[in-house]
Amino acid sequence: MPVTLSDRLSAELSGLRESGLLISPRVLDAPQHARTTVDGREVVNLASNNYLGFANHPALKARAAEYLQKWGVGAGAVRTIAGTLRIHEELEEQIAGFKHTGSALVLHSGFSTNQGVLGGLLKEGDLVVSDELNHASIIDGLRLTKATRKVFKHADPEDLDRVLRENPTEGLIMVVTDGVFSMDGDLAPLDRLVEVARRYGAVTYVDDAHGSGVMGAQGRGTVHHFGFEYADDVIQVGTLSKAWGGVGGYAAGHAGLRQLLINRARPYLFSTAQAPATVGALAAALDEVQRDPTLMERLWANTRYFKAELGRLGFDTFGSVTPITPVIFGEAPAAFEASRRLFDEGIFAVGLGFPTVPRTLARIRNIVTAEHTRDDLDRALAAYEKVGRALGTIGG
Ligand code: PMP
Repeated sequence: MPVTLSDRLSAELSGLRESGLLISPRVLDAPQHARTTVDGREVVNLASNNYLGFANHPALKARAAEYLQKWGVGAGAVRTIAGTLRIHEELEEQIAGFKHTGSALVLHSGFSTNQGVLGGLLKEGDLVVSDELNHASIIDGLRLTKATRKVFKHADPEDLDRVLRENPTEGLIMVVTDGVFSMDGDLAPLDRLVEVARRYGAVTYVDDAHGSGVMGAQGRGTVHHFGFEYADDVIQVGTLSKAWGGVGGYAAGHAGLRQLLINRARPYLFSTAQAPATVGALAAALDEVQRDPTLMERLWANTRYFKAELGRLGFDTFGSVTPITPVIFGEAPAAFEASRRLFDEGIFAVGLGFPTVPRTLARIRNIVTAEHTRDDLDRALAAYEKVGRALGTIGG
C-alpha cells in the first residue's frame, strides 16, 4: 500500500515540530511600516526588507493606482503570447538606465530571476562557481543547469582562484555571488572576485537582492559600489521585492542578455507577466530614489546608529556593514527565546537558527530602514538591553 497523504502530512509536520523547525509566520494586521501591528500587538518592525519604506510610500501607491486604472489588474498572459505591455518594456529601459547596463529584463520575483537566468544561460560544458553562502534561489537555479557546478569558500578570492585553476573549461565560466549576504549583512569582495574571474575569462554574476536600493550612489547597487556597472562581463540580478517595495526581479547586463533571456528564461516564457499596478509602483520607486536623496541618507544614518549602539551595549553584530544587522545569541533556542522576549517588549525581529545559519551562530536578524525614527530605534535598543541582560548575552 502506498503511503496516504494524511500519513505523509502528519509524519512530516510532527518531524518538523519535534526538531523545532516548524514555521508559522506571524500575521500583520496593519501595513508594512517601521511600526506595525503584529498578532494584535503594536510593534517596532525590524523584520521586513522594506529598506526605503517604499512598501507603503505615497508616490508608489499613486503610480500603482494610476497604472491600475489605465492598464487594468492583469497582464493577460505570458508576454511572448499575449504581447508585452508597453509599461513592462518601459520599466526595463528604466532599470537598464538606472543600472547603466546594455539591457535589462524584468521577471516575477528575485527567486524566479535566478531560476530563469541561470537555467536559461548555462549549458552542458560550462562551469559555474558559486559562493558557499549564496541564497537558496541561486542554489535551486543552478540545479536547473547541466553546467559543472563547484563551490568556493565564502567571500574568498583565493579559494575562487583555486577552483577556477583546478577546473579548466572550454565553455562559459561563471562566478556567482550574492552582492550583500542576507544572513550576515556582509559584502562580497567584488573588486577582488571580478579580478580573479577575469584572469580566467569568467563572467561574474551578482545577485544584488539586498544591495539594490541600499548600496552605491542612489541605491544603484553593489556592482556600482565597486565601479563595475559598465562591464559586459558582469551580470546584475536582483529583486524588486525588497528596497523597491513591490514584487519582481531583474537581470541587467550585456546588451544581448535581455534578448537571449526572452528566448530562454523559462519563467519569462511560461508565466504571466507582473500586474500593471506593481509595474507602476516599481517605476515610481526608481524615480523616487533619485528625486529624494534623504531616503538613502536616513537608511544609512539609522544603520550606523543602530549598529554602534548595539555594539556599545556589548552585542556581537558579526561585522555586518549593511542595514542587515544580526545579533548573535549562540544556539538556536537562545535566539528564539530572545525573539519571543523582544516581541513581548514590542519589538518584531526574527530569530534564525540551524540550518539557516551555523549551529552556534543562531541570531536575531534586524533590518534597519529609512522609515525608522530615532525613537523606534531607541525603543528597540532599550528592549535589547533588557532581554540581553536577562539572558546573559550581555553584561556578564
Ligand atoms: N536572492 C537573494 C539573495 C535573496 O535574499 C532573496 C530574498 N529572500 C531572493 C533572491 C528572492 O527574491 P524575491 O523575494 O523577490 O523572490
